[in-house]
Amino acid sequence: MGRIHVLPDILASQVAAGEVVERPASVVKELMENSIDAGARRIVVEFQKGGSRLIRVTDDGSGMDRSDALLCLERHATSKIRESTDLASISTLGFRGEALPSIASVSRFRLSTRRREDEAGTLIVVSGGKILDVEDSGDAPGTRIEVADLFFNVPARRKFLRGEQTESAHLLQQIETLAIAHPEISFTCRRDETEILRLAATDDLAVRIRDLRGEDFLKRLVALVPLESHGVRVTGWMARPGEGRSDRAHQMLFVNGRMIRSPILSQPLREACDGTLAKGLHPPAVLFFEMDSSAVDCNVHPAKREVRFRDPAIIRSVALMAARSAWERAAPSEGFSPGVGADPLFPPIPALAASSHLSWQPSAHSRQYELAGRMNDSQRVAETPESTSVLPLASSPEASPFSARYLGMLSGRYLLFEEKESLLMLEIRAARERLLYERFLARLIQGELESQHLLLPEILEMSSADLAWIDAHRGVLQAAGLFAEPFGQGSHGVGSLKVDAVPADAATLPVMEIVVRLVDELRTLDEAPTLDRQGREALASTVSRIAAASSCLPDDPEAALMLLRQLLASELPYVTPKGRPTLVQLAPGELQRRFAP
Ligand code: ADP
Ligand code: MG
Repeated sequence: MGRIHVLPDILASQVAAGEVVERPASVVKELMENSIDAGARRIVVEFQKGGSRLIRVTDDGSGMDRSDALLCLERHATSKIRESTDLASISTLGFRGEALPSIASVSRFRLSTRRREDEAGTLIVVSGGKILDVEDSGDAPGTRIEVADLFFNVPARRKFLRGEQTESAHLLQQIETLAIAHPEISFTCRRDETEILRLAATDDLAVRIRDLRGEDFLKRLVALVPLESHGVRVTGWMARPGEGRSDRAHQMLFVNGRMIRSPILSQPLREACDGTLAKGLHPPAVLFFEMDSSAVDCNVHPAKREVRFRDPAIIRSVALMAARSAWERAAPSEGFSPGVGADPLFPPIPALAASSHLSWQPSAHSRQYELAGRMNDSQRVAETPESTSVLPLASSPEASPFSARYLGMLSGRYLLFEEKESLLMLEIRAARERLLYERFLARLIQGELESQHLLLPEILEMSSADLAWIDAHRGVLQAAGLFAEPFGQGSHGVGSLKVDAVPADAATLPVMEIVVRLVDELRTLDEAPTLDRQGREALASTVSRIAAASSCLPDDPEAALMLLRQLLASELPYVTPKGRPTLVQLAPGELQRRFAP
């Protein structure tokens, strides 16, 4: 007889439970998510002894008929997807059909459910995965699930439960998370027979945050002007500048209604705080990212706490934009009151906050733009807002006209512009990185980056390890414009590389520097460089950073204005592909405020 056998169903469920059901809080999560998926308007959660003695979740959702009630305890029984293609567009919280059978296999489990249209409901009693009883029940429409003595039949797991206080804290945090994601649902929680939470349904997230965390917490947040870019919509609340917590429990980041932990979201938030927040602190935030369900894969983590984004670079830059736009509004902290609309004195960067999706058509206006750029002060004073030489930056009809005047260069690094009453500061290298990145990516999609042949091939000395890496990734390097091959093996782990051509846009840098930077940066990527979609983005981003370092400074006002104009016409003008800011605006009134007595 072979050594491989198929697990009996109950054992298989217990194994699956090992992944889905870590602790009482995970049971609460699964049950509450099912209630939400069932359209509940009201959810009651009761628990005893940190949830290890009892968890009971009652909802007024759709309920199930008898056959569904029996079916939902079978492994992989779900009403939420039918075929594998459905996995690409999941709009419910559940979809695997694993939670109920897993939970029922490791507890004493009772399911009572009734559809509104049915006279009698169904009660099913299960113990350690075995159905003991099925009978009629007379409960109100909706579903009630009781999970008693969690892990009673898996002593090894029960031993791993922490103290009652710890388990209760996890459990409450879970309730809080779902309550924040669904202010439209009312929640009640009873712990050991005492009601500890009662949240009325509301259509205002601020009310829900305040009910849960208190007025003080809410006051430390600033509301985001809803932002939409590249098919990603962001709403929510973000900490005011300087507010930080060392644990990330105060950072709730939702993707299509699901709270997830992801550095792709949290890093840009942290990055937005660089310079205002000490190391190790994270800005509190409640942010909702909504995108087409095909843009995100939520089937990657057993407890669905992680997702995979189809386009992480876009998500990252949108998250950064969101944080920055919130901060633009937060800067004048005096007089702020949560829930109030944009402060007219301190508007966000145009197009960054309210309307990052506004498209600006440079071609139609570029001549006027240059005109505006060449004007001197006296001319500008005479300008009226309707004047044709004032360039509208945003195409939105209600946006105010925008014209920029070049003021000069600072430290050989920043370009300063005056725009209305505000000061625009552009970082030259970051701006170039953004522009080059978009150009390179477009080229890589069609083929390869331009390369420049060296008159005489250059021979570089390199370690054998580097040579081997270069040899193994020759295709990707050639797409980036670098043509190089190992050239004889030296001694002591050192060899030679013959370089015939380098990326044209970086050609002013020493060949050695190009090769070393390219190889080093590509080697530190999370994944080996490829020429698929993500690989091309990483490659474009890497080469743009190198090439941006090689270009010379814009030496006259026209070149400076051209750079600003091109930047504003790019797809994501305000950040580099790595999320570094390219353009910072000191809003009108901000200087006044700083010099105020
Ligand atoms: P999933 O949520 O992944 O589909 P579950 O095991 O959590 O898997 O639930 C199985 C099925 O049972 C669900 O697809 C749903 O049809 C049904 N169900 C579970 N809980 C409820 C509930 N509270 N109200 C109505 N139907 C429910
Ligand atoms: Mg479920």
